[in-house]
Amino acid sequence: MMSIAIVGAGFSGAVIANELAKAGHQVTVFDGRAHVAGNCHTERDAQTDVMVHVYGPHIFHTSNERVWNYVQHFDEFMPFVNRVKAVYNGRVYSLPINLMTINAFFGKTFSPAEAAAFMAEIGDKSITDPQTFEEQAMRFVGKDLYEAFFKGYTQKQWGLHPSELPASILKRLPVRFNYDDNYYASKFQGMPKHGYTYIVERMLDHPNITVHLSTLFERAQAAEYGHVFYSGPVDAWFGYAEGRLGYRTLDFEVERHAGDYQGNPVINYCNQEVPFTRISEHKHFAPWEQHEQTLIYKEHSRLCGEADTPYYPIRLVKDKAQLTQYVELAKAEKNTTFVGRLGTYRYLDMHVTIEEALNVAERFLASVAAGQVMPTFNVDPLG
Ligand code: UDP
Repeated sequence: MMSIAIVGAGFSGAVIANELAKAGHQVTVFDGRAHVAGNCHTERDAQTDVMVHVYGPHIFHTSNERVWNYVQHFDEFMPFVNRVKAVYNGRVYSLPINLMTINAFFGKTFSPAEAAAFMAEIGDKSITDPQTFEEQAMRFVGKDLYEAFFKGYTQKQWGLHPSELPASILKRLPVRFNYDDNYYASKFQGMPKHGYTYIVERMLDHPNITVHLSTLFERAQAAEYGHVFYSGPVDAWFGYAEGRLGYRTLDFEVERHAGDYQGNPVINYCNQEVPFTRISEHKHFAPWEQHEQTLIYKEHSRLCGEADTPYYPIRLVKDKAQLTQYVELAKAEKNTTFVGRLGTYRYLDMHVTIEEALNVAERFLASVAAGQVMPTFNVDPLG
């Protein structure tokens, strides 16, 4: 049995720790923060008793049955469907763009077929192979809806004009010609009854796992372990030798009020002149709970500085060139595997993080059994 170090107690680290501990390995987990669960961390607010998504809203959804079944071992998942509203020019609409949005926005009573024909008409057909976010939006929703719902929001979220961003960012959002206002198209969706931190604590609760919080792990310590799984920022591991990879970070203006502030978990503010991107009201993430008080986050996005918490990898051409250099450096590391959002510098939803971590653990156990070397990356960060 091996002595394993895992750097980072978010979903990547916790899933790998749990799987390897169950297989009999001795696992030591390190996290620089004072809590587990990384950016998924949840905790009860002392004043309102509301369960707060401390680093912003996290809604669990997946179409992967293995992942869905896996997470059920650690908490009960309560029914929850994310239905997002969007404010533009003083009016409220439904997101993602669906028949309600189209009819409300254009003052129509279109049927699904009429809406599809109308949207095909207003889309910019001169764009045949959309490359940028702007082209993708102009092609599929046309100028008016693009300018209302995507242009200002995206500029606030990324600090860049949509013509400088890849089409892939918008491809995350569907357009629907029916009244389905579920933000996600996933087969399964829900909220953990006791929050995400509870889940991660349970994953790490095993006699073969030791957790060190508020503890940084130095690269030199790797030599003390049979293998290291590193879920921290890949550029930090190498002391930023090739420069810093670009991230967006978030600031939250926290407010507490009596009663119900906005009547919905998330409302996006799409006008560019509104300084925040969205307001989340956290008690509505737990609709099975009752609270007289409420707590809201006004979410502001900006470029991540050296002392900030990284959230969204920017992954523009410049960042990808740097990432290529880090991938080369990483491949020369012995007995170290880079995992997760920060370790591979990719935008990852929770369910993808968990799926990838399960795959990493499985591959590692198979490599140990076969006397083979575990690769530095189990997925290609540049892919
Ligand atoms: N987006 C937008 N308007 C919205 C919501 C999203 O323009 O009201 C764009 C924005 O660029 C965002 C991307 O779509 O980064 C993906 O949205 P998603 O809701 O998946 O972002 P997340 O919840 O991960 O921040």
